Amino acid sequence: MTTALITHADCLTHVTPTGHPERVARLEHVLHALEPFDLRRVTAPLAAEDDLLRIHPAGYIADIRDARPEEGFAKIDGDTFLSPGSVDAAFRAAGAVVRAVDMVLGGEVQNAFCAIRPPGHHAERETAMGFCLFGNAALAAKHALDFHGLNRVAVVDFDVHHGNGTQDLLWDEARALLITSQQMPLWPGSGRPDEDGAHGQILNIPLAPGTGGAEMRAAYTAQAFPRLRAFMPELIIISAGFDAHQDDPLANLNWSTADFAWLTAELCTLAQELCQGRIVSTLEGGYDLNALAAATRAHVQELIKAAT
Ligand SMILES: [Zn+2]
Repeated sequence: MTTALITHADCLTHVTPTGHPERVARLEHVLHALEPFDLRRVTAPLAAEDDLLRIHPAGYIADIRDARPEEGFAKIDGDTFLSPGSVDAAFRAAGAVVRAVDMVLGGEVQNAFCAIRPPGHHAERETAMGFCLFGNAALAAKHALDFHGLNRVAVVDFDVHHGNGTQDLLWDEARALLITSQQMPLWPGSGRPDEDGAHGQILNIPLAPGTGGAEMRAAYTAQAFPRLRAFMPELIIISAGFDAHQDDPLANLNWSTADFAWLTAELCTLAQELCQGRIVSTLEGGYDLNALAAATRAHVQELIKAAT
């Protein structure tokens, strides 16, 4: 079995204003870092409207399409912009995770990494925010549940920012366990432990500024892994943001590249134990280009190891 790398050149046409941290160079660095690896390289399709309707209302999807500028930028909020290529990029990003779920559940590959942008975990049901337009990780979960008929899917979000969008989209979804760790306090401000979902199926793990690898490992070992084991997911989806890295300029956690490798390896071991190794991972944040490239390389290397 192999690891799939799913991406599309359209994701490089989502341009943001000069100085914006979520920039084209991020994905270029990620793709360059993954060049040496033996991966099943897959071109992301455009998501179908029916796929997106699993997480966003038709009016919201139309609003995103209509906001596309002919040139320059359309400003959605203080952080979130559309360029002429952004709508296609967002549909490719969403299409990538759908394809990844199809390939992993279809037994074509062991696991998959979606190298995409814009990221997704801040997009709420009717609100684009935090560089995100469509909720890619939640879409992957809903597609696995509603299209493939799974009964239990877990989403693990280790981006340094709270996955408020994924939480919003999966709040009522009893078939999805969401585990999300985030620096607190930090934008967007949500992610307290008492935000636990309509069915108690959301686990928020706030981490204090300065939290390093040892404390992260202890927190995941004590809180996240037992919840995953108890839930017995049939698929694990990872919101892979690499901005908890010690070199990241947007936050203040102190994880090393080795910490991302450790966490990925642990999730692969759990997936092996619980769900035949099935993992779909999708890129979220990570804003120091070198740290992003190194941590993504370490993450995908562990996926490859688990697939062979
Ligand atoms: Zn982030």
